[in-house]
Amino acid sequence: MDEDLVWCINYLKNINHLTEEIHLTPELALRALMNITMPLSLSDEFYERQDKILKRLISRKETIDVENLEEIRPHISIVKSDIVSLKADAIVDAGNEKLLGCFLPLHGCVDNAIHSFAGLEVRRDLLKMMERQGHDEACGLVKVTKGYNLQAKYIFHTVGPQIIHRVNEKNERDLKSSYLSCLKKADEMHLKSLVFPSISTGIYGYPIEKACKIAINVTKNYLLNSKIKRVVFDLFSQGDYNVYFDAIKESYR
Ligand code: ADP
Repeated sequence: MDEDLVWCINYLKNINHLTEEIHLTPELALRALMNITMPLSLSDEFYERQDKILKRLISRKETIDVENLEEIRPHISIVKSDIVSLKADAIVDAGNEKLLGCFLPLHGCVDNAIHSFAGLEVRRDLLKMMERQGHDEACGLVKVTKGYNLQAKYIFHTVGPQIIHRVNEKNERDLKSSYLSCLKKADEMHLKSLVFPSISTGIYGYPIEKACKIAINVTKNYLLNSKIKRVVFDLFSQGDYNVYFDAIKESYR
């Protein structure tokens, strides 16, 4: 087994006071351990070894440079991909109000994927920001970290609305605000490309047909006065991709 992997697994097991054997492949064991770790004072050696491993794991994935995607409408592309495979100036992470990434080992949400492949540096940086802030993150805002081991230069962390019964006006405002905050931040930072996952339409239960209309309308209007060259909607299933595809065609009729 790879020496760095063994070292990092043992290091994180130690930090988390785990003694039992983990019955997963080494790569998954490391990811699961990263997911549960609060990075209070991890050593430089851990970060160096973790970075080597993650760079190698990412290089095994097929990278998509968003600049090479076809534009379905001016400055807009859609793609079906794991967001961690995308090379862009910034990708957006749909987080929760704690903004520290997903703590459920190997959970299938976009937040878990992004934090797991970017590295624990992201949780460390967010922890500092959240401690300084002193309260949970409200919906519709954005905080920025570096992309670390990802191909994206930056990660934009936003919290979308969680649907309890059915979508209400505040939920709509909050979702709009998440998209708008990220678009404005990208311009402010002079970024050329920005990738959105389908915010709130997974665990948070926003119906995708409604959410995607908001995503598309906010973006389309914003791009009329923006220097961003490319906004990409990244979908994770063919069904979601088709919904976005049809909605984009419809909205530009
Ligand atoms: P939320 O809590 O905001 O609903 P989720 O992660 O549960 O966030 O889901 C948001 C969207 O992200 C869903 O459409 C889900 O299918 C998608 N998703 C999950 N994993 C990935 C990934 N690795 N890359 C891109 N999209 C993803």
